[in-house]
This record gives sequence, structure tokens and C-alpha cells, in this order.
Amino acid sequence: MAIVLRYVFVLFLLVTTHAFAAEAAKVSWPSALEVLQGQIAELKVTGENLVKVEGRKGKEVLYFASNGSGVHTALLGVDVEAKPAQLKLSLKAFDDTGLQLHAEIPLTIKANAYHKESFNVPPSFDQMTPETLAEIRREQAAFAKAFATTAQERFWETPFARPVPQEASASSFGARRVINGVPRPPHTGTDLSSPTGTEVVASNHGRVVLVGHFFFAGGSVVIDHGGGLYSMYFHLSEFRVDEGAMVRRGDVVALSGGTGRVTGPHLHWGIRLNNTRVDPLDLLRKFGAPPSNPAASTKADK
Ligand SMILES: [Zn+2]
Repeated sequence: MAIVLRYVFVLFLLVTTHAFAAEAAKVSWPSALEVLQGQIAELKVTGENLVKVEGRKGKEVLYFASNGSGVHTALLGVDVEAKPAQLKLSLKAFDDTGLQLHAEIPLTIKANAYHKESFNVPPSFDQMTPETLAEIRREQAAFAKAFATTAQERFWETPFARPVPQEASASSFGARRVINGVPRPPHTGTDLSSPTGTEVVASNHGRVVLVGHFFFAGGSVVIDHGGGLYSMYFHLSEFRVDEGAMVRRGDVVALSGGTGRVTGPHLHWGIRLNNTRVDPLDLLRKFGAPPSNPAASTKADK
């Protein structure tokens, strides 16, 4: 009996080893990644008979979407304040027989050279009355609620669009600010120098998950693009959408303004990816329309 069992076990090993070797050869994993603080990378796993790919960066879920012919992609974000480090991404792929394959992909997070700036705001901005503190708590709670759940389905598709035609001001993403002599958290969006009343368009398709007026952000619109990706538009003067609406890339969602904690009118454009705060201009550089045809990015889906 023991001999028979041993024979069966050896046969089992041969069969499974053979199966893993055969399947592993068909799957292509991402190579080691190097990503700067505040930037984005795309992960691509390919295999003819892959039905599903799952991934994690620590506790953070990476949402993979399939193109239907064996190519599975996810966006990876590195937070603007992430410490330089060596991490491992954990990826799992499942084929149509239920076989599960696993890979660990090295990720190196590198420091980015963000500039520092000092400026002053009227003392009233820093004198927090009980009413102001209550307003700030309401703002934090509203944004936390908007980010608490993301659509599992990916609504967005390339290319991403600029929300307004204007360029970024000097007060750009990642700047470490010293306000009234006190160091503050970094700037987590890109300020585009739009005059009040400029039409602000959705960067991509998605669901509007927040429309409201807040102490810091002023008039605000947040769009959930699915798979952990959000875009944010702050300091708006007027809204053109309601919470819950589905929008397409290029749809006008608001008019820009100078509401909230600002020193002048502009559009603050922010991108959030799986709880990381990343540079909107990096998203445009990597997944925007080619520079030769800038109009296509905002008009393609109108
Ligand atoms: Zn800003």
C-alpha cells in the first residue's frame, strides 16, 4: 500500500510540476519598477488564457482590468510623501482552468525633487474659530466618504484630458509650503492658472461622487473613474453636474473660480489613485493625448 501511495504522490508531483512549467511560460509579468514620489506606472500582465489578475502593494489593492484578449493592466501610484524604499508587489494570475500563478515584482520608490516655497496668508486663515474647525471637520468627512468606496469597474480609458486649457502656475504639484513661517503638508494638486468662469471638463469618464462648497477647497467636484482612481476640481465658481451623475471625458462639470482658501482664481486639479496622491501632469504625460493633436483629448467623446 505504501509503495502505491508513494507512486501516486510522485505521479502527482510530475503532473503539477509539468502544468506549472507549461502555464508559467505563457504568462508575462511586469519587470522590476522604479517610480518617483508622486508619479504613476502601469502594470501589465499578459497570458493567452488568463481570466483574472489580482495585485497588492502592501495592504493597497491594485485593480486590474482586462482588455478581453489576455492583457490585464493596473495603474500603480506612489504617494507624494512616500518614503524612498524597496518594496515588493504581490501579483496573482488565474487561468481558465483555475490554476493560480504568483509573482513578486520589485518596486523601488525614489525621491522626487519638489521645490519649496514660502508665502503668507491673512491671519484670519490661521485663526481657527470653533465654527471654522467644524467646517474643516465637515470637509474632511465629506472627502473621506467620497474616497471610502470606489467602483470596481474601470470607467476610464486613455487618453486623459486636461480639464482647462491653461498651463500650471509656479505653485505646482509636490511643492513643500511654508505658510506664515510654518511648514505645511505638500501641495497635492496642480494649480492651473484659469480665470474665473473658465469651463472645467472631466478628465475622463466616471461617476460624480462629490459636489459641494468647503473651507479649504471651495467649490469642489470629485469624479470616481473606477478602480481606485479619482479626479478632483477645486475653487470652482459654479457647478454643471450633480452628485451621482455619470460623465464622459470632455463634459463640462463646472466653471473655475477663486473660492475657498486661495490667493487668486485658478483651478486646483488633483488625482488620487488607491489612496496615493499623484501628479495630474504625470498622468497626462503618460496617458494623455499625443501633443500633436491636443484637441482630441477633450473633444473625442463629445
Ligand atoms: Zn492647489
